[in-house]
Amino acid sequence: MHTCLSPCADIWNTPKRLIEKAREQGIHIIGISDHNAAENVAPALRYAEKYGSGEITVIPGMEITTAEEIHILGLFGDLEQVLEMQSFVYARLSGKNEPEVFGEQIIVNEDEEVLGFNEHLLSGAISASLEEVIERIHSLGGVAIAAHVDRPSFSVISQLGFIPESARFDAVELSSSITLKEARRRFPEIARYSVISSSDAHYLHWIGNATTEFLLAQPGLDEIVLALKQKDGRRILME
Ligand SMILES: [Zn+2]
Ligand SMILES: [Zn+2]
Repeated sequence: MHTCLSPCADIWNTPKRLIEKAREQGIHIIGISDHNAAENVAPALRYAEKYGSGEITVIPGMEITTAEEIHILGLFGDLEQVLEMQSFVYARLSGKNEPEVFGEQIIVNEDEEVLGFNEHLLSGAISASLEEVIERIHSLGGVAIAAHVDRPSFSVISQLGFIPESARFDAVELSSSITLKEARRRFPEIARYSVISSSDAHYLHWIGNATTEFLLAQPGLDEIVLALKQKDGRRILME
């Protein structure tokens, strides 16, 4: 889900409110994935640690826009990895945000105090290809997921017309507007991948619109990786 750091997300999407809303919805694991940035991951981790009563696990992530304008969801095992990814992205991202055109990019802390505004053009594409971004995510120990493959814009299928074999995705993600059955009919090539579904929440009320049920020993990215590979009894529970 997106925090108030993403220019297109609601300013009320603070890490605190995302976590509280997810908790209300009975969600146990959330991924924080702002467009081309990760400054609000640390406050989300801190909020979950301080006030989450062990009920909610935050996975550090980022939604990266490749040179082909394809959104890739990178999920990471810890804060350092996602911040390394952020450095890779910032080194390849040009332009300055115009808040009145694209939206505010607000950096907050776990108590919703505004710490500053990100000045990068986070809505832009970086100068790295799909394959390069996936390679970098993997080299940092992360998981690369093709974001919202059913959407008519910014998905690998909308941009290229297909999912290239050279792109070593660990899974594909469906948006909340399509069922797994319908997605399998419309995009038969997703049969090659594990499929997850998520809300991609830009507003608090989107949280829970789509979720993925996993059978895991405990919450965490290591376990999710096992489930994506259907290893050691871990798996995705979807119809
Ligand atoms: Zn996206
Ligand atoms: Zn998104």
